[in-house]
Amino acid sequence: MRNIQIAIDGPAGAGKSTVAKKLADLLGFVYIDTGAMYRAITYKALRQGISLDNAEALTNTAKDTAIQFVRTKQGRQLIFCDGREVTEEIRSPDVSENVSKIAQFSSVREVLVRKQQELASNQNVVMDGRDIGTVVLPQAECKIYLTASLEERTARRYHELLLKGYTEEYAKIRENLAQRDEMDKNREAGPLKIAEDAVIIDSTDLTQEEVLQKILGLLGQ
Ligand code: C5P
Repeated sequence: MRNIQIAIDGPAGAGKSTVAKKLADLLGFVYIDTGAMYRAITYKALRQGISLDNAEALTNTAKDTAIQFVRTKQGRQLIFCDGREVTEEIRSPDVSENVSKIAQFSSVREVLVRKQQELASNQNVVMDGRDIGTVVLPQAECKIYLTASLEERTARRYHELLLKGYTEEYAKIRENLAQRDEMDKNREAGPLKIAEDAVIIDSTDLTQEEVLQKILGLLGQ
């Protein structure tokens, strides 16, 4: 029997990762954060001084980088890049400002999409990102497009960063989210589309628990 795949797509800051993680825990599935994979490559490129305009070097970096997700007993999801834990580093404002640049290149995307498909080939997964329902796992059993207003997403990201010790200005976060939305929508590799068979959930006025219950309802749980 084929493994079960749940795809959760949507713009930055819509709450995808929190809901996807909880859902994976409840169902006993593996959670794959594809944004973290784009972030890990960006982090490595920045550290190694690789130009973010150099598609060939970035594609080779994507090919040569080992990205692993490790779930701790306490339920934290850790991300390792070439054996080094980078969970916090890849969420830094520096990486957030640059990640959509590397996500523009179709050759980088092809490498990461292949890695994502491999991860979903032998285990039940909840995978979140931008193109999961359309490109990575078009056969997914359940597709969700989770969105929220720009103001709400900015407020959520602001508090999240504050908790992590970053004091990023509200206006700057808003600008970064809006800019990433725009780049993700208008990229050369093809614009982000909502899968035709995705269920759209607007979480602007919903709690995380309410979003989770909606998805569980769709899954008949
Ligand atoms: O999900 P997160 O906001 O961490 O993703 C960071 C960036 O990675 C996105 O703004 C987008 O440019 C890129 N991305 C992508 N395709 C995915 C996941 C993320 O292009 N499946």
